[in-house]
Amino acid sequence: MIKAKNVNKFFYVPEKIQALNNVSCEVKPGEVVVIIGPSGSGKSTFLRCLNRLEFADSGEITIDGENVLDGNVDINKVRAEAGMVFQSFNLFPHKTVLENLVMAPMMVRGKGRKECEELGMKLLKKVGIDAKWNAHPDQLSGGQQQRVAIARALCMEPKVMLFDEPTSALDPEMVGEVLDVMKALARSGMTMVVVTHEMGFAREVADRVIFMDAGTIIEEGTPEHFFDNPTNERAKLFLSQIL
Ligand code: ATP
Ligand code: MG
Repeated sequence: MIKAKNVNKFFYVPEKIQALNNVSCEVKPGEVVVIIGPSGSGKSTFLRCLNRLEFADSGEITIDGENVLDGNVDINKVRAEAGMVFQSFNLFPHKTVLENLVMAPMMVRGKGRKECEELGMKLLKKVGIDAKWNAHPDQLSGGQQQRVAIARALCMEPKVMLFDEPTSALDPEMVGEVLDVMKALARSGMTMVVVTHEMGFAREVADRVIFMDAGTIIEEGTPEHFFDNPTNERAKLFLSQIL
């Protein structure tokens, strides 16, 4: 579903750094891959390269067969297939919850309002927030806003979902409700790439854990392998600091 091969990404401001160094990774349909690693290791940059929020400098990236780095590819179509959820919820503040959900599928997929609203309500129910369909984002808690953001991404009917630290900005008591929604999504067979520091989630839900450091994947394996028998010293150090 996702293929990344030898992806490199440089930033030049404020100084030249290589944010991604020959990153290769394949994600199969239905697979849940969790990416962990220290701050600045390139986790967000990698996710953002997958749907071309950042343009990789070299390498190959395909999502559902579409060549993301081809200048002629319809990037809106690629992004429609790769839903993204960020640390900050990024809901449209002046739109209602349901309106937040239906805008993109109507504009990008060209679907009718009624069809989108029906799907939108179904998804709001799934994430447990259908009662708030007519509220505005500032009337919701952080956990509720993030669940709306997940429903909004799903309303595009993407083939994969990319999560960048979706619970990092939440008060602790709201982390669980968002992780529960993500777990249910994983169980439903969604292909997911999740950057998170929630090790319980990684252990329970991930098919594979990827550990990044300094722009490189330095360890990759099942959660059992990664948490119980990491071979790399930097991965061991990281785990000893956060577990
Ligand atoms: P964190 O856990 O703190 O979110 P991360 O693993 O997501 O970290 P990235 O945000 O991918 O790390 O950053 C990787 C490197 O690229 C860092 O050195 C960062 O400073 C740099 N970087 C990221 N985005 C930009 C940008 N837009 N311009 C310049 N440098 C950037
Ligand atoms: Mg990041």
